[in-house]
Amino acid sequence: RAKLDGRNTFRFFTPEMQAQSARALALENSLRRALEREQLTLHYQPQIDLETGLVQSVEALLRWHHPHWGQVSPAEFIPIAEDSGQILQIGDWVLRTALAQLRAWRDSGMPHLTMAVNLSAIQFREPHLPERIAQLLSEFDLPPDALELELTEGVAVSDPHTAVTTMDQLHARGVRMSMDDFGTGYSSLSQLKRFRIFKLKIDQSFVRDLGQDANDRAIVSAIIRMAQALGMRTTAEGVETGEQLHFLRNEGCHSAQGYHFSTPLPAEAMERFMRQRAAEATTELEPAH
Ligand code: C2E
Ligand code: MG
Ligand code: MG
Ligand code: MG
Repeated sequence: RAKLDGRNTFRFFTPEMQAQSARALALENSLRRALEREQLTLHYQPQIDLETGLVQSVEALLRWHHPHWGQVSPAEFIPIAEDSGQILQIGDWVLRTALAQLRAWRDSGMPHLTMAVNLSAIQFREPHLPERIAQLLSEFDLPPDALELELTEGVAVSDPHTAVTTMDQLHARGVRMSMDDFGTGYSSLSQLKRFRIFKLKIDQSFVRDLGQDANDRAIVSAIIRMAQALGMRTTAEGVETGEQLHFLRNEGCHSAQGYHFSTPLPAEAMERFMRQRAAEATTELEPAH
């Protein structure tokens, strides 16, 4: 509701906009201390292998519990951290914490588990990123293919050349990269072809209405077939129903992630989930008496 006041000047900010930017400023200030006050944690969500039913990979998802505001969504605070530059420090903490957790899980009977970590486009532009990742992997004695970096199509928007160079460097080191929220961004197929992408994550907006929308079914099946032809794997995001799962499995999607299997959980709860899942799979394979 920007409007002209009596002196013919624009008021650019409505009261709602002012309240919003006040909150953003307050969040930015608290975020500065969130790390040292241990308000940030990681939750983990499983990606289920659709052939074996086992947990193939877990995605680390950042959580911020603020003493005054309660849970603040990453969809709200990550853009703030990107604007203020704090995302670099936070992103490094996420990588280190997720890899430490993966080390612990690999040591406790899950030797093939892999960890997916979301990277901001800002982190991806840091020239030292490939080196830093190699350093963290060696610190935790993990092979490079234990890590999957989730990138959005936004990484390539401002500077496709640098994005391709960084992907080449990471790929040369053996680190895997996934294209997150695939189909919602602005990247072109000619860019995708040059990217060293291991896996396409089919955005949940295409998965949500698979049961009702023939167009979404056509899009999802086309993405899976294209990925197969390009030698990429596919993971469907936001799988909430058995019906969606059935369709995805029939189409040859490799893995699925969503509330149908599990919400993102704290590390201890995720560990119980994985053990239970493995025990059930073993029981199913035992011969009937
Ligand atoms: P994303 O990487 O695409 O993560 C998937 C989001 O979908 C997560 O939201 C997850 O909780 C949610 N989700 C999972 N299964 C379902 C489902 O069945 N139905 C529905 N409706 N939603 C589901 P979350 O945790 O709120 O994260 C939102 C976004 O914030 C992430 O989207 C990612 O882009 C970003 N993010 C989270 N953690 C980090 C991080 O450590 N670093 C960076 N740079 N970004 C992060
Ligand atoms: Mg992700
Ligand atoms: Mg996603
Ligand atoms: Mg997303």
